[in-house]
Amino acid sequence: MELEPAEGSVVAVEYRAARIFDGFSEQIMEDGAVLVEDGRIVSVGAAREPSTGTGVVDLGDATLLPGLIDAHVHLVWSASAEPHEVVKRETRALTALRCANNAALHLHAGVTTVRDVGATDGLSIDVARAVELRVLPGPRVIAAGRAIAMTGGHGWFLGREADGAEAVRHAVRSELKAGATCIKLMASGGVYGNAEEPGSPQLTVEEMSAGVEEAHKAGRKVAAHAYSVEAIGNALEAGVDSIEHGSFIDRDTARRMRESETYLVPTMSVYRAMSEKGPELGAPEYIRRKTAEVLEASREAFSLALEVGVPIAAGTDCGAPGHPHGTLPGELMLMVEAGASPMQALRFGTSAAADLLGLGDEVGSLEPGKRADLLAVDGDPTGDILALREVRLVVRDGSGVQGKHSQAQLGVGF
Ligand SMILES: [Zn+2]
Repeated sequence: MELEPAEGSVVAVEYRAARIFDGFSEQIMEDGAVLVEDGRIVSVGAAREPSTGTGVVDLGDATLLPGLIDAHVHLVWSASAEPHEVVKRETRALTALRCANNAALHLHAGVTTVRDVGATDGLSIDVARAVELRVLPGPRVIAAGRAIAMTGGHGWFLGREADGAEAVRHAVRSELKAGATCIKLMASGGVYGNAEEPGSPQLTVEEMSAGVEEAHKAGRKVAAHAYSVEAIGNALEAGVDSIEHGSFIDRDTARRMRESETYLVPTMSVYRAMSEKGPELGAPEYIRRKTAEVLEASREAFSLALEVGVPIAAGTDCGAPGHPHGTLPGELMLMVEAGASPMQALRFGTSAAADLLGLGDEVGSLEPGKRADLLAVDGDPTGDILALREVRLVVRDGSGVQGKHSQAQLGVGF
């Protein structure tokens, strides 16, 4: 796999497809073309006779859409029964190699941007740099570095512990200094730890407010892990930009999120993965028990948020037990099962997620001036969302990665 175009290859490429979904419209365009030059989209419209020097990639009976965005991943984890135990045992070099492999899995699945919301030793920041430097083929990474939890709080092993407003302020400043491009705060317990319950509140309003203030000063967004109404309320009071999971949300809290334009990232697929594969993986009993509680609640939370009009972005929590990287289509499928139209689900996994990540001007839609992040799939995902699994071509920043058709068939020298 090679991301750089071969020497002497054409600079401008026109991608043609039977259907184009631009990431935000209500309808798809038929027989369209996306012209790409120097890594950016130049135009989106009807296919015309291209000018000389423009290469043509005719994808035929395919749908072209923006590269997908997964707003909740953990690249250091590789979907084993107890991924945190694996990371604890192995060397950081090996964990970094896992990260590289996990990043590649996303890219091949058509995910061209991920937000990593908690990485041991801040490894996601290194992955982000490696991708940017083209040392590593992978999606663009918005990295929280180390997640911030209270002492013994949820996911402390994916991050760092901080107690008191000034300690949280210092932790946020330190992560930003290390190169974090978003911040993750743990507002409640979760599913993985033994000595915690998903509903119990953790970081306080005062602690999170100090963290949010520092992140926002630096122009960075804050994601808060929160399950219960009380924890979600604390995070909203502190001014976070997204609630991760949010499975036990109620109608009043959903309305509050709509008013404050705070995103919900429901991560339904992680609960499905853990409940389906947990027993065969030999996941500990406490993980299975808590997963069963949360699975149904997370579907109801998503339906409620959809009904109330809460901003929603797609995220998988992949890397967690039984939930491999590159599985965003499964999350979008669950959204459709829980009441979203395929078009809505596609928006949650493209333009809406880009907005949440603060990348709305750069990615998430097919529009002139945006980065050329494209996904071509067989079939029509606006009819059957699982067509997203039939990846034919992935392009990130104008450089292509093959799907199931070879580069010779595509006629361009990637
Ligand atoms: Zn997570």
